Amino acid sequence: MNLKNSKFYKRIQELRNFSKEKIRKDREQRGLRSPVIRGVEMALSESKCVAPVIELEWSQLAGPLQEVCSPRRRPSPSKPKQSKKKSNASGEPRLRGGQGFHPVKTIDLNSDAPVEGYIDLNNLRFRVACTPRKETSPLRDEALRVSDSKSAICVSNSRYAMIGRISKSLGYKLVKESKLWNILWSDSFPGVELFKNMKRFQQINHFPGMIEICRKDLLSRNLNRMLKLYPHDYKIFPKTWMLPADYGDAMHYAQNHKRTFILKPDSGAQGRGIWLTNDLKTLGPNERLICQTYIHRPLLIDGYKFDLRVYTLITSVDPLRLYVYNEGLARFATNKYVEPTPGNAHDLYMHLTNYSVNKRNSQYDLCDNDDCGSKRKLSAINNWMTRHNYDVSEFWSNVDDVIIKTVLSAWPVLKHNYHACFPGHDTIQACFEILGFDILVDWKLKPYILEVNHSPSFHTNEQVDREVKRPLIRDTLTLVSTVLADKRQIMREDRKRVKQRLLKSKGDIVQRSRVVPAASKVLPNKEGSPTNKEQSPDPEVGSLAQQIAWEESHMGNFRRIMPPPDASRINYYGKFFGQTNLVSIFQETAASKKREDLARKMRLQIEEKKAKQEQMLNARSKRKRLIQPRLAREKHRLTLFRLKENWSPGYVSEAEERLRNTWQQMRTEAIKNQKITESIYSLLFQNGHLSNTDITTFPNLYHYLQCGFDITGAT
Ligand code: ADP
Repeated sequence: MNLKNSKFYKRIQELRNFSKEKIRKDREQRGLRSPVIRGVEMALSESKCVAPVIELEWSQLAGPLQEVCSPRRRPSPSKPKQSKKKSNASGEPRLRGGQGFHPVKTIDLNSDAPVEGYIDLNNLRFRVACTPRKETSPLRDEALRVSDSKSAICVSNSRYAMIGRISKSLGYKLVKESKLWNILWSDSFPGVELFKNMKRFQQINHFPGMIEICRKDLLSRNLNRMLKLYPHDYKIFPKTWMLPADYGDAMHYAQNHKRTFILKPDSGAQGRGIWLTNDLKTLGPNERLICQTYIHRPLLIDGYKFDLRVYTLITSVDPLRLYVYNEGLARFATNKYVEPTPGNAHDLYMHLTNYSVNKRNSQYDLCDNDDCGSKRKLSAINNWMTRHNYDVSEFWSNVDDVIIKTVLSAWPVLKHNYHACFPGHDTIQACFEILGFDILVDWKLKPYILEVNHSPSFHTNEQVDREVKRPLIRDTLTLVSTVLADKRQIMREDRKRVKQRLLKSKGDIVQRSRVVPAASKVLPNKEGSPTNKEQSPDPEVGSLAQQIAWEESHMGNFRRIMPPPDASRINYYGKFFGQTNLVSIFQETAASKKREDLARKMRLQIEEKKAKQEQMLNARSKRKRLIQPRLAREKHRLTLFRLKENWSPGYVSEAEERLRNTWQQMRTEAIKNQKITESIYSLLFQNGHLSNTDITTFPNLYHYLQCGFDITGAT
């Protein structure tokens, strides 16, 4: 069959021709317009030299260029031919008569009002509207100048297309990971190698060591340690035990308190593997779990339990700088809440508030209104609280407190890791990070930290997600200080440094790569002056000051919580920074120390036992075969006996038990048949070890002997 004659083939050809034609027409239309627009841009840049328009900021055009009329309909009055010629001669459009811009009214450069005017170009007249440049502080001016250069961002390690789109709209160029990016946005923790190879103008969206608070088990360990150090300040999380290590403690607590417990896998997420119980005895002693007291009276809205997703941005760990986003999400359970009972404990739609769990429920409410739906904005929760006469500002200051304390629990590790990974990053901070704090609120409005997410979800399935997450990303990218680093200059400096190093001009290198602990640089003393190095102008202090100024002026919808805006809180949080002086950061709780001791003892015992066994095995060849293993078995039995405190009864099968009974019967019969008891009895009697009085005093003796029991206990 000849396909070319088929109807189908002809139709395809038709469609192809049709689309080709369409593309050609499109191109023609675009081709007609784009050189003209480019011409207008050129003309304006030319006109900067001759007219007051010089101050007009082209990048801040209030609207796109608008074609007012075509020359055929409204011919321009001045030198049309000359203009046309010029344009044709150079092949590029030119401003007519060098005049360029015709303002609609007199331009007042001190006013903020937009400037309007006309441009005649290539026989076309365009209306242009521009916003005049505002007077800015030198620092801001400098920052703007730097930000003019296009920064590059790599988002190939992120699954959220939104991040790329927003970056593009902010003027970032999207590049691959192999290129010289300014920002690398990744969903997962990058390896140490990547951190170490970063250039001084580069930033990444994770801090090395943040896992310390982003894994449930590590978070519990850190918060438990802080609770031991500061028992009054760190009641910010439900009582938590790490099983199996804390099995004994948890059981002890369960015996003395009638509570419901929530059990979670130590590194799980999205509500996977979570269940409730009030009987910890059902747990095996070797299960790896996080066990927490269940907050059984949470704050309810419309009868539903909910938790808060609070977005926190860390822009620096040394000095610690934290920002909380004013907007966030409240995630609701989808079945009305009832305090846990054995009957409802399995109802995850009632007790868990994870979106990933509740979206599966048919009751999940997709409502666009602020005051309904299974996912709501924090602003809606604030409104609800205000309506119910709760103190909203006090509540949020408590939430901020919980967030600060959680981050502080990992601060020594964060600081240490940062300086280890980025010893030469002196221009801008090498990292920033958006953390998603999951916070549960109880009926007294007390916030509890449940979990910290290092890569909070940026999926935008619902309108409320879009309304919260898009501005969050936008404000984050605006706040981070990438723009303050001059890529080209840093590259030049680095090349020079390498050259110098190769030429062994050590003195200069040492001076350049000197790293001053940043904490000492920014904390002012009481008089408000820097505590040290006041005289020597340190470039790092300068860049840090510049970064702080940048952050303060680009906060968007973020609020700064660390350093706290309330000066009286600075001293309060100061004491938590000193945790390293009180206890080693790697030191564990007293319970874990005990556990370690016990484990060490057991290890020693096992090693000892092994050594003995080996010794015995070696000696075995020298001794008689039959006696030696029995001795070894006996010793082994004794050792096990000594470890009785760690002993738990094993499983005895029925068959085993029957066998044991049979052996015992056989033994008793043998004793009876061979008249062993009588002979021992008469032997004892004959040797004078047993008298008639003994027989009356211990009437069971004969019976014991007959049954083969131990007679030492009987006498
Ligand atoms: P995951 O990482 O799997 O989401 P979470 O620790 O966030 O685990 O717990 C999941 C959900 O379980 C939370 O959103 C919350 O609703 C509920 N939950 C967790 N811990 C507690 C607790 N101690 N008391 C009451 N509810 C809790």
